[in-house]
Amino acid sequence: MNNRTICYDDLKKELELYLDENDIKEIEKAYLYAKEKHKGQYRKTGEEYIVHPLFVAQILTSIRADKETIIAALLHDVIEDTETSKNEIKNTFGDVVANLVDGVTKINNINVSTDNEYLTSYYKKIIVGMSEDVRVIIIKLADRLHNMRTLYALDHDKQKRKAKETLEILAPIAHRLGMSKIKSELEDLSLKYLKPEAYRDVVEKLNNTKKEREEYVKKMMDEVSALLKENGIKHEIKGRAKSIYSIYKKLDKGRSFNDIYDLLAIRILVEKEQECYLTLGLIHSKYKPISKRFKDFIAMPKTNLYQTLHTTVFGPFGNLFEIQIRTYDMDEIAENGIASHWAYKEKKDAAVEMQNITEQKLQFYKSIIELRDDKLTSEDFVEKVKNEVLNNNIYVYTPKGDVFELPIGATPIDFAYKIHSQVGDKMTGAIVNNNMVPLTYELKDSDIVKIITNNNSKGPSREWINIAKTTSAKNKIKSFFNRTTKEDYIEEGKNLLEKELRRKKIPLSDFMSEENLKKVFDHFKLDSLEDIYLNIGNNKFSAKSIVKNDSDKKEEKKELKVIVKSSDNDIVVGDTKNIETTIASCCEPVPGDEIVGYITKTNGIRIHRKGCTNIEFLDDRIIEATWNPNIDSKYKSEIIIHTTSKENIIVDIVQTAASIGIALENVNLINKTNNNVYSVSVLVTSLTDLEKYMTNLSKIKYVNDVERIMR
Ligand code: MN
Repeated sequence: MNNRTICYDDLKKELELYLDENDIKEIEKAYLYAKEKHKGQYRKTGEEYIVHPLFVAQILTSIRADKETIIAALLHDVIEDTETSKNEIKNTFGDVVANLVDGVTKINNINVSTDNEYLTSYYKKIIVGMSEDVRVIIIKLADRLHNMRTLYALDHDKQKRKAKETLEILAPIAHRLGMSKIKSELEDLSLKYLKPEAYRDVVEKLNNTKKEREEYVKKMMDEVSALLKENGIKHEIKGRAKSIYSIYKKLDKGRSFNDIYDLLAIRILVEKEQECYLTLGLIHSKYKPISKRFKDFIAMPKTNLYQTLHTTVFGPFGNLFEIQIRTYDMDEIAENGIASHWAYKEKKDAAVEMQNITEQKLQFYKSIIELRDDKLTSEDFVEKVKNEVLNNNIYVYTPKGDVFELPIGATPIDFAYKIHSQVGDKMTGAIVNNNMVPLTYELKDSDIVKIITNNNSKGPSREWINIAKTTSAKNKIKSFFNRTTKEDYIEEGKNLLEKELRRKKIPLSDFMSEENLKKVFDHFKLDSLEDIYLNIGNNKFSAKSIVKNDSDKKEEKKELKVIVKSSDNDIVVGDTKNIETTIASCCEPVPGDEIVGYITKTNGIRIHRKGCTNIEFLDDRIIEATWNPNIDSKYKSEIIIHTTSKENIIVDIVQTAASIGIALENVNLINKTNNNVYSVSVLVTSLTDLEKYMTNLSKIKYVNDVERIMR
């Protein structure tokens, strides 16, 4: 931050570092033009107005902005503050420059009364600007940065308003664009005006500990440098200052200053990606790392292009050090994000390339566009952009390492729909960090998520609309239901019915006989075959109940937990059908198992498997029990799978179940020290189904034993 003023020659010196003479000549023309236009105008700081556009242009030279961007920066206030038209700029400087200036002007030009209205149109304009040319937003960020540097000249209210807006909108956008250098300065300056005491407190604390910290950092840098030299790795090491705002945020969360361990931080730059890992290995062999703090943002990059290895180790004095390792290319991208393309690419293509990357790789852009296209009220729109896109996000990975950014509170449903709407529509379950989770599971930062899909899936459940957190997932689910027409349901219902008939080995002609159809129509109050199909297809009746001709309307929420209810009719005790029983959780009998009843003192009759060790010597309380032959309810059973490998086979376990229509309640990796052991909870209607599943499980590679639990 400097308060000294600037003149054109200062800018020119920096332009000469990377632009050619002709480019600079054009820029000079723009400078003279702007100077003339702003003649007689002064900034609140008392300086001539032209100083502001000059500073904005200078900020942009630090990221090697192209000629058009620099010219537009010099001209960015002429339409708004002087009598100049877009057309005049177009005729003098060409289309590209005119559009950039016009874009910036549109964002600035807002005249609305209430806070909310103001914010809404502000957001919208930023989005429009960005969709036209991302350089508009980059100029806007530089413009704001200079205005924040000179914010002292404004009155108190304006200071607070600008600072708040910067923190809420512009800094997050800079972050999404990967422009962390500008983002950090914007945040620090905002804090300075929003919470002056807190800001001064952090600065003071940093100053008080500065000497000591610098000593530690110096020592660590020397040691690491020697280590790398010994091993022939060319490198550069920088001490790294933590931003004031990031420290403030940690303090604000209740951490004490002495506990912020990344205060001592260094950054190592090497030439090749491979050397990053080599360096990491050397450091971990010399200094003990904290395992939870290691993050590989090279293999698993963030959504804003950032790539670096992070680790925290115990340094020479027993202090914790945060170490970042990256290549020079990664460093440029980490500091300037999208704008780094100016430094690397042929200038001519850089603008196109940047726009492409913004639209295709930066997920926040897509999310914002989706929200824009949604018919939301302005207030909702602002709220959603703030909460779902710009703030408080987590990074979640696919097993392959692709990263997706989601708001806090997002579920596997949001993740699946973020990958692709077809993945969401065909989802049957989710595995997070090797464990099967319910779809209501709240994803955490860095979770690795595998979505299980099944091509036979009928589509999402309406319930998911309430479970999903993001507007985008909700909309995609809603649109699935709008897309699914009556015809689809009829087709689907027909398939399901025929499948069920085949399963039960009932000839189609038998079911279609006039006599049977009449029975079905009467029983279910339907009046045509098409009606039957429709009601099966839309899940009102199950194909099973139609074939069996009983109105089993129990809603099957396959995707959610199946509610297991032991109806008193399922088990015959002695020869009474109406005695209430409960199922013992130690041996979990399922229909088909030989069972007995145990008369408990207070809880009625509990049903165990014959031979369950828990009732071995309790003959006087045992009563005969049998299954009612017409059972349709599902019973829970737990299976333990032993394997001979550390290879994860959860996906096979789940898919084996799906292939024979077994409902899974839970799959967990319960032992992963040597050979993996899994526990699986299934819901089955018969022992036959359970045994079939167990047989199929035993055929999976690495499985050497499958057993039912008996506690
Ligand atoms: Mn300006």
